[in-house]
Amino acid sequence: MTEGDYFHVYVVMELEDARLVPVSLEMLSEARRLIDNLNKKHGSDEKVVAVLLGHDVKRLTQTLIEHGADFVVYVDHPELKEVRNTIYTKVVSQIALDREIAAKVSAKYAEQFKKPRFMFFGADAIGRHLSSTALVELDSGLASDINKLEISDINLTHQNKTGGKQELYEKTLEMYRPDFSGFLWTTILCLDNKNPAIKRDYHPQACSIIPGVFEPLKPDSTRKGQVVEFVPRIDEQDLKVRILSRKAIKSDVDFESRKAVVSFGRGIRDFPEQNIKLVEGLAKQLGAEIGVSLPISKKPFSVSESLASTYMNSERVIGTSGKKVSPMLYVAVGISGAMQHVAGMKEAEFIVAINPDESSPIKDESDLFIKGRMEDVVPKLIEELKKQSSLVEA
Ligand SMILES: Cc1cc2nc3c(=O)[nH]c(=O)nc-3n(C[C@H](O)[C@H](O)[C@H](O)COP(=O)(O)OP(=O)(O)OC[C@H]3O[C@@H](n4cnc5c(N)ncnc54)[C@H](O)[C@@H]3O)c2cc1C
Repeated sequence: MTEGDYFHVYVVMELEDARLVPVSLEMLSEARRLIDNLNKKHGSDEKVVAVLLGHDVKRLTQTLIEHGADFVVYVDHPELKEVRNTIYTKVVSQIALDREIAAKVSAKYAEQFKKPRFMFFGADAIGRHLSSTALVELDSGLASDINKLEISDINLTHQNKTGGKQELYEKTLEMYRPDFSGFLWTTILCLDNKNPAIKRDYHPQACSIIPGVFEPLKPDSTRKGQVVEFVPRIDEQDLKVRILSRKAIKSDVDFESRKAVVSFGRGIRDFPEQNIKLVEGLAKQLGAEIGVSLPISKKPFSVSESLASTYMNSERVIGTSGKKVSPMLYVAVGISGAMQHVAGMKEAEFIVAINPDESSPIKDESDLFIKGRMEDVVPKLIEELKKQSSLVEA
């Protein structure tokens, strides 16, 4: 295979209760930007292809075109109403490899087409799982939890990849994500082996994209695009897992209607039980909901069962692995400010951080940084807030 065998970006849409989830339109917008730049630079005519699976989904295809897709491949099948990873993996892979679909997307590249050049999935529970299994089927790599993308031409000399020779990798997707510490950026490349001894391709270059990172395009009803139905090959074997009923569990955690959120992190470590109670006291005075950093949801400290079950759980996590919040006031107590956390709270109108370490990255995100230990600062804040509210009441 050659670099010339891969064309277009296929963007896998996601639905919740028959509605598109926001990351679907966000991915389309970023795909549009990247493909427009690529076509301009290389004089090509590659397309943004939206892949839509579900039941009764044709009604959504025009929305996808208005939000940046050139082409929509949809599959309407009762068995796809609810997401089951095995069937979804199969159908997404069938579409990605289907040369008839590719010929409809673009006659110009029909002859050469082997697989999509790029593929995008949402980095949520469904998309993370689906992207990994689909890319196994498509025999390529995957970068997960990406929040920045660029396409570039890269000259590379590498012992394994190129056999020590300099090679040009055209149209390479640079996929950026925070590293595991959350304080540095990592760039991930999915490169073909050009080393003759171990030659093989790694396309599509695929990733899952963090929700909320890219802005969706404003819908443009004058945008034109094509819509094609794909009829998948589903066997009895694929239907062994059945969804008999589905019940969404309603959470008591309310980040939406509360004007303030107080979150705590591993900074509670010296006196976890007492410190969580301090956070509760502060939240009560502010009428705030309580959030946590991801490590707290893994129950890193021993506290009473009632505090652990109320606060140390995934429902309260703020960040890329949890909720994105935008309250009027966000108070980060004992949180260092890793990128994955900041992505979930940086839209707050006013950010206060309480932390003894001035070099913590949360300082740069804060409108007000209170240098100090929470054990000293929070009781004073509670006392002051109580005074203020008694003045207002009097
Ligand atoms: C794929 C992936 C996804 C992730 N997603 C998320 C996510 O969605 N949300 C998230 O939060 N994290 C996420 N993380 C983890 C993230 O990288 C950080 O490890 C995490 O946010 C750090 O949590 P923390 O701030 O509570 O702890 P730490 O980084 O340990 O920070 C504790 C802070 O408390 C301060 N402190 C110490 N003592 C006190 C005291 N007495 N009073 C006040 N402050 C004190 C310290 O100075 C320090 O700044 C993710 C990581 C990965 C790899």
